[in-house]
Amino acid sequence: MTPVQPVRGTQSLLGEEADRLAAVVAAFDRVRRLYGFKRVEMPTIEHTAVFARTIGETTDVVSKEMYSFEDRGGESITLRPEFTAGICRAYVSEGWQQFAPLKVATHGSAFRYERPQKGRFREFHQLDAEIIGAGEPQADVELLALADQLLKELGIDGAILQLNTLGDPETRAAWRDALYEHFRGHRDALSEDSQARLERNPLRILDSKAHQDWPVVDSAPVIDEFLTSEAAHFFGRVTEGLDAAAIQWERAPRLVRGLDYYRHTAFEFVTDRLGAQGTVIAGGRYDGLIEALGGPHTPAVGWAAGVERLSMMIGAPAAEKPSVIVIPLGPRAELQGQAIVAGLRREGVAADMAYRGNMKKRLSRANDAGAAYALIIGDDELERAEAQLKDLGTGEQRAVSLDLLAEAIGQ
Ligand code: ATP
Ligand code: MG
Repeated sequence: MTPVQPVRGTQSLLGEEADRLAAVVAAFDRVRRLYGFKRVEMPTIEHTAVFARTIGETTDVVSKEMYSFEDRGGESITLRPEFTAGICRAYVSEGWQQFAPLKVATHGSAFRYERPQKGRFREFHQLDAEIIGAGEPQADVELLALADQLLKELGIDGAILQLNTLGDPETRAAWRDALYEHFRGHRDALSEDSQARLERNPLRILDSKAHQDWPVVDSAPVIDEFLTSEAAHFFGRVTEGLDAAAIQWERAPRLVRGLDYYRHTAFEFVTDRLGAQGTVIAGGRYDGLIEALGGPHTPAVGWAAGVERLSMMIGAPAAEKPSVIVIPLGPRAELQGQAIVAGLRREGVAADMAYRGNMKKRLSRANDAGAAYALIIGDDELERAEAQLKDLGTGEQRAVSLDLLAEAIGQ
């Protein structure tokens, strides 16, 4: 029988790689508390309509990447491809509106049917932060500061904040028309995908990953020519706020978000260290989303970060090491060893037992595990309620009383 294989684009991680993901999540959890973002726990599945209505039928995510299925009750269900839509659904369905403005954070798996490659998986993990019910540019600044501080805490200094505005609906409509005219004039030079986007969503051509499109994208009109004075003022407040908070940013006039619901601020933190998958955090203001779900008009801003991508950019987390490895010799010593290991662990000392193989093997296991000490228990020592404590750093060995073990290992 062929052994069972993992689903393509999923990862099973052991040791350092798993620790890296956990380190990213732990840093996020520390920082979001400093900023007063409440933790929310979200379902992995939602009605398909939650994503179809908000992310937009014309986006890659909805048209090609969703894991959707009919459940046994005949309902169309989708594994979340991101968190924002589900959080907004909850904002409406769970009455979270009473807490507005609401700052929330969460993290977990997201699922997209994509071509797996470095930094791109079918099940991946996101960190997510949202401020819902705040239309002020101060919310955008706070949210960007959170992302900036997270990167700093993780020791990632090679990610640059690229910032753009998509303006208000009036601005966006005028820009969209100009882009449509521009791209229509260069239709034949565009990739097949972008030709298809032309009628449905010309803004998305700016986001194209096809090299063929880039010259036409580079010569496309920029949004600045179309900004209403309100939209320009809003963007100005955001950039002033960033400067005041000493957050570095770069203007990226052709940056758009792939999803349809964005207004005003759009941004990505980008690095050149991950090849084509260089976007580590992405987000923006999505004032139109909650209305699309049938809720009241609610301004909101948020971002999502790819945990795997961030984890590739951090230094290796400190390996977890036991302080003591207990090495019992014989059945009586094994029982005593169980008592000792349990006692040490209850006192908060990381301890383990090596019960297989000869002494040399067990000592080398203790060394490999990075333990500070090996505690060797033999019958003779047991009579005296003692054991041999070997300092694996210096190689020194001495008899210690079992009652004074914690003191002997300096805990
Ligand atoms: P990309 O352009 O790389 O496809 P995206 O625009 O689809 O990204 P978002 O929907 O903005 O991505 O998701 C936010 C973040 O989640 C991304 O910036 C990235 O770090 C991460 N991400 C998105 N898709 C994947 C994936 N398939 N595998 C790993 N990480 C991902
Ligand atoms: Mg994508």
